[in-house]
Formats: sequence, structure tokens, C-alpha cells
Amino acid sequence: MAYRPLDESTVVSYVKQRPPMAKVFSSLDRLSVSEVGDGNLNLVFIVQNEVNPAESVILKQALPFLRVAGDSWPLTRERMRYETQALLKHNELAPGLAPTVYDFDQEMSLVIMEHLRTHEIMRKGLVARKRYPFFADHISTFLVNVLFFTSDLFLTGPEKKQLQATFVNEHLRKLQEDFVYSNPYMESEENNWNPLIDELVQAVRADGALKIAIAEMKEAYMTHGEALIHADLHTGSIMLNGGDTRVIDPEFAFFGPMAYDIGAVLQNLILNYLSHYGHTADRAEREAYQVYLLELVRDIWNEFARKFDETWANNNRGELVPEKYWDFPGGQEAFAEYRRSYIHRLLQETAGHGGVKFLRRMMGIVSVWDLSSIEDLEKRAVAERLAIQIGKRWVLERKSISSIDDLTGIVLEETKGVSI
Ligand code: ADP
Ligand code: MG
Repeated sequence: MAYRPLDESTVVSYVKQRPPMAKVFSSLDRLSVSEVGDGNLNLVFIVQNEVNPAESVILKQALPFLRVAGDSWPLTRERMRYETQALLKHNELAPGLAPTVYDFDQEMSLVIMEHLRTHEIMRKGLVARKRYPFFADHISTFLVNVLFFTSDLFLTGPEKKQLQATFVNEHLRKLQEDFVYSNPYMESEENNWNPLIDELVQAVRADGALKIAIAEMKEAYMTHGEALIHADLHTGSIMLNGGDTRVIDPEFAFFGPMAYDIGAVLQNLILNYLSHYGHTADRAEREAYQVYLLELVRDIWNEFARKFDETWANNNRGELVPEKYWDFPGGQEAFAEYRRSYIHRLLQETAGHGGVKFLRRMMGIVSVWDLSSIEDLEKRAVAERLAIQIGKRWVLERKSISSIDDLTGIVLEETKGVSI
């Protein structure tokens, strides 16, 4: 079937004629449809069986342009193939941590997947100061399993290159190259920022040392094909409920630096921390939640580092350092030391990519809902100024970061003078 964008009046008849749907729905006679529509890039519909409302699916279709920017910004529909491939890989490597894929239609650029009926977008829950006791465990497992098992630490050279060749994703990569690493820090028409922080935005754009550091991180993003990364792993790409976590929306997936994903998770939690200066007027409540968020950041990193090291020690079959390579007196100690230094470098790069991502959210094409939902621009600026300060320091000081406490320490130092 030739490509055509679906709408509420055409989704049902489309779904009915897809063979895999007969397995999902007990009857196709009375399907109803509603559009979700909070996405930035694509059409997202919920299709439900009115006879048995527990049966429902999500249908996600790419438009031939970038939805937030309108039809003036063409964007390849190929992204839905990348999203589907990545979802399948995530299900394989991190079972239970991504939605199940039911169907994919290349011509129509759409995927039909499990509807996470009882889950909510993490950003929303964080603004409501919810706590997720299981999240550090789940997200660290997701990161370790997907990153480690698609890297040269586990795959042979040919296996890795073949898999990598199926994730070129050149157009969406260019979006991040532009929108994360270049355009926010120079004149570019899609940029927008709170006028109250204009002076800081201009200062970032004119800070030579910072511009060099950002360029270094961009180079890493463009050239370090370490593992299959999600590449858009903010808290709007995570859905959870009382005990279950799922990572959605991997359309940007490609082989890039592992630290880009880790940095995205940690940096989004810190942005949420800052947003509570605008959302939570009660100081005691706010501070208690902020303490929780910093603990969460620490737990995620520490769990990640522990599981990554253990997984590597137990599954060292990759191209990089074969078992036999360590076969000498003291070899196991040397291998352990190499793993330690590898993970330490990941932390430093997490600071670098995470730092850039703070900056881009303050002065680029899209902010985050945690901040944009603060209507009072003065209150919003309090959080935004801190985000710029923290982001700058994460990037500039990344090479002297030696533990996760250094990263959270920067947050504490920069926020200690806040008196609201
Ligand atoms: P986009 O790539 O266009 O940003 P997303 O994949 O982020 O689209 O989806 C947009 C919204 O649709 C999400 O914020 C979420 O509310 C909803 N959504 C997406 N996938 C699912 C799913 N599997 N189950 C339930 N809701 C979903
Ligand atoms: Mg998306």
C-alpha cells in the first residue's frame, strides 16, 4: 500500500486488514480510535476494542516532515524502520523494558505496538514528585544490556559492523548534530529561550572555551560508534507505573557513544530537580524531593557501573580484548583495571554529553515540559540560570570528574545559594 498519512477516520479500516491484529484483538468489529498527539515528530493513535477495552494497541506513523516545525522541515519516514528495529533489539536484550512490537509496515512508515495502558510518562510523574523505588534498577539494566551487548566488548568485529550497518540513521543523527551540538550556540531561526536569560544565552554563545568543549563532545557524538544507543533517552521517552518501566520512542537509535544515553537520563533528572523551584513552593517538600532525585542519580550511576563491570567480566567474548589477551600472570587484575578505567571514562563523557544537553534545552529548538510548564517567566528563569551554570560546569570540568559525587556535587554547589 502506497504511503498515506492516517487520520482518525482511516486508522480503523487500516488496522482491520493487518493480519497480526487478529492475534491482538478477539474481535475487529468495534474498534475505536483516538489520537495521542503529544509527540514532537509523529502521529500516535490508540486503537481499542470497545467490546473488550483491555485490548488496545498503539499505532505510530511517521510524517514526511518534523511535526514540531511544521511541513516546512522535511524529514525522512525511514525513521520508523529504525524505531522498529531498535524496539525489537531492546525487547531481545532487555526483555520487559520496552513495548512489544506487533506489526510494522515499511511502505506506510508505521509500527503497531503494545499500548502501555497503566503507565505514565516519567516527566509527568516527576513534576508531581512521585518516587520510583525500582527505577534505578530497571534503567541501569536497560542501559547495561543494550549498550554492552551491542558493543565491541561483546560482539565480534564482523557481528558489530553488520549490526551497525543496519542503523545508519543519517537524517535523525543530523537533527541531533544540529539541534544538540551546534544551532543552540549560534544564530539559528528555530532557537527560542526565555527573554529573561538572554544575557546568559549570549554569554554561552561567546564563550570560546565552552564552544571548544561542546565541539569536542559533538565530535564524540559523530564518530564514537561504541554501541546501539537510544539517542533520545529523556524522561519523556520513559513510561512507568507502580512496578514496571518501559523505554519508548527509539527512532533516533544508531551506533554512538554510550555516555550519550546515560547522560540523557541523569541530566533530565537534574532538570526536573531544578524545575521544582518553580513547581513546589513548600520548601521542605521541595528539598526532600530534590534529595531523593540526587540519590536516584547516584543509584543509577552506581548500579550501571556495577552491572556493566560484572556483565563484562562474565561475557568477555567481544573483539576488543579477547580472553586470551589477559592470559598472563596478573592478567585478571589488568583486565579489572581496564574495565575500571573504561567505566571511569564513561562517567566523564556522561558529564560532557549531559552538560551539553542542559545547555541545548535552555536555548535551542525544544525545552522540556518540566520547565516549559512553569508559566511565571521569573520562576522559570531561576531554574534555567542554574541549568546553564551546571551544564557549563559538567562539560568544562568533565575530565576531572572522578566519581558520581563530583557530578551531584556541582548541582549542590550551584543551588546552595537559592533562597526561594
Ligand atoms: P514522538 O516520537 O512523536 O515524540 P512518542 O513515541 O514519544 O512520539 O509518543 C508520543 C506519546 O504517545 C507519548 O508521549 C505517550 O504519551 C504516547 N505513547 C507512545 N507510545 C506509547 C505506548 N506504547 N503506550 C502508551 N502510550 C504511548
Ligand atoms: Mg520521538
